[in-house]
Amino acid sequence: MEIFSTSSEIRNWSRTSRLAGRRVGFVPTMGALHEGHASLLRLAAELTDDVVLSIFVNPTQFGPNEDFNKYPRTWEADLETARQAGVKAVFAPGAEFYPKGYRTQVTVPEWKSVLEGEIRPGHFDGVTSVVAKLFLSVEPDVAVFGQKDAQQALLIRRMVRDLDFGLRLVVAPTIREDDGLALSSRNRYLSESDRHRALAISRAIRASVSAWESGERDPRRILSVGKDELAANPPDVVDYFTLLDPDSLEVLDTTESVDKPAILVAAARYGATRLIDNAVLGTVWD
Ligand code: AMP
Repeated sequence: MEIFSTSSEIRNWSRTSRLAGRRVGFVPTMGALHEGHASLLRLAAELTDDVVLSIFVNPTQFGPNEDFNKYPRTWEADLETARQAGVKAVFAPGAEFYPKGYRTQVTVPEWKSVLEGEIRPGHFDGVTSVVAKLFLSVEPDVAVFGQKDAQQALLIRRMVRDLDFGLRLVVAPTIREDDGLALSSRNRYLSESDRHRALAISRAIRASVSAWESGERDPRRILSVGKDELAANPPDVVDYFTLLDPDSLEVLDTTESVDKPAILVAAARYGATRLIDNAVLGTVWD
């Protein structure tokens, strides 16, 4: 497994691979890898010949009061996870990834301010810009993202289509603990009692999904069974628990009927820790 820190090195490596007729897969991450990330790496290895993992804690997607400085950094363990998943190259850019005077942004106007974007102003501009830069460095044939960050995946899908990145975007299912908690690098911040309380998020999502699976199409009723479940073991703050149209990014909680695919998205806080989770209703990624 090779390790690179500059765009030109990884670009040369990737171009050499493709010139040899090999397909390059790419999984961008901020490190602190867990089984969710490993599943993306394994999927990329199934779909392509040479998998590139990037590890970069991107400062521009963190707000001023967010956890950039204390975001977990577990370099050695991450390399081991990468090796085991069959990664061929790790791209770990340093601070010079943003050269002095850096100003350019790739932005998806309007969508960047919906739900997660409203609560974390500037977050999605940071995400789309860094992912665009990473795509230009790695030039992958296939890029794999997790549904865990569903809004992120929707914005990147839009960006890939709009800017003709010429790659296939694959969105992979969320990996969970046995008790339902979605794996997240931030779960390690949770106290034992908050971790227990946080199970209410996946339970609430499951309750709403089963209502939908039983044929319920009224968004208020789909959402209310989930909200009742959340209220039974309430988070400190519920930022949102709602339905999102994956094509328009409109919030669907007051529409007449959920009659096309939708995403049920949730965000809640336990102390200083914010968790997000979601489920798709119907086929959203193909
Ligand atoms: P990050 O955790 O922000 O470094 O995310 C890197 C990639 O891993 C993103 O595409 C995430 O959506 C994905 N990811 C994070 N958690 C999970 C999970 N529990 N299951 C599957 N993919 C995940």
